[in-house]
Amino acid sequence: MSLQEMFDVSDRSAIVTGGASGLGRAYAEVLAEGGARVCIFDLNQDELDRTVGELSRGNADVWGLQVDVTDRPALSIAFDQVAERHGRIDVVFANAGIDAGPGFLTPDGDRNPDGEIDNLNDSHWDKVIATNLTSVYNTIKLAARHMKRTGGGRIIATSSIAALYNDGIVGTPYMPAKAGVAHLVRQAAMELGRHNILVNAIAPGPFITNIAGGRMRFEEDRKAFSMWSALGRVAEVSEIKGLALYLASPASSYVTGSHIVIDGGLVLRPAEDA
Ligand code: NAD
Repeated sequence: MSLQEMFDVSDRSAIVTGGASGLGRAYAEVLAEGGARVCIFDLNQDELDRTVGELSRGNADVWGLQVDVTDRPALSIAFDQVAERHGRIDVVFANAGIDAGPGFLTPDGDRNPDGEIDNLNDSHWDKVIATNLTSVYNTIKLAARHMKRTGGGRIIATSSIAALYNDGIVGTPYMPAKAGVAHLVRQAAMELGRHNILVNAIAPGPFITNIAGGRMRFEEDRKAFSMWSALGRVAEVSEIKGLALYLASPASSYVTGSHIVIDGGLVLRPAEDA
C-alpha cells in the first residue's frame, strides 16, 4: 500500500457529531480535505450553517443536520438520512460534548466556591452524563447497525484526559462521563471487531475551543493547562487533525479499542507536581 493509499479517505462516507465547532469541526475539515463525504450533526443551527458554508467550498462535500445526540429517535432518523444520501456510512466521530459548566460556575461565570459533590445540581449531573456519555452509546449503537450491513467501518469517540485523572477544575460529572467513554469504546471494540468495525477514542488534553476557552479565563486553569504539559502550552485545534485522519484511514487497520492521548504530555506529570 502506498503512503497515499494508507491515508486515503476519499471514498468514505462520514458523520461527525458536534462538528459545527472546535475539535469536531477539525475532524470534519480533515475528512473533507481528504475527499470524504461528510455530514455534520450539531445542536447549534447557526454554527452548523456557518461551518457547513465554510467547509463546503470548492469540491468538498459537506452538509449538516441539526440534531440533538441525546434524542435517540432524532439521531436514528439523521443516520438514516445520511445512509440514504451517501449509500453507506463508513466513519463516525462520536464527538459532541459539553463542559462541566454551571455545575461549578456561579451564574455570573465565576468559580463556585461550593462547587463540590454535595452541592451539585442533580439536573446538571443528568445533562452532562446524557450529553457526554449516553450520547456516545447512542451514536456507537446506530453506527454499528449501519456498518454491519455494509461490511465494517470506523467509530472514533472523543474522550478526554479527564478519563485518566481527577482534579478540582473540570467538574464532578465530566470526569466519570469521559472514563465511561473510554471503557465503552473498549467494550464496543471487543464486540464489533469480528464485524470489521474498529472503535477507538481520542483523548485530548487542552485545546482552545469554546469548551476549554471558557475555562482559560481563570488564572489557575491557564497555568494548569499550559504549564503542566511537557510542551508548556495548550494546543491549536488543527493539531488534532493528523490523529483523526489516521484513525479514519487504512493506516490504522490494526488499531481498535485504543484510547489515544493527545495532550502535549500533560498526563505525564506526577500528581504531586500539579
Ligand atoms: P465545542 O463546544 O467547540 O464543540 C462541541 C460541539 O458539540 C458544539 O458545536 C455543540 O453545539 C455540540 N453539541 C453540544 N451538545 C450537543 C448535543 N446534545 N447534540 C449535538 N451537538 C451538541 O467544544 P470541543 O472542545 O470541540 O468539544 C468536542 C469534544 O471534545 C467534547 O466531547 C469534549 O468533551 C471533548 N474534549 C475537549 C477538550 C478541549 O480541550 N477542547 C479536551 C478534552 C476533550
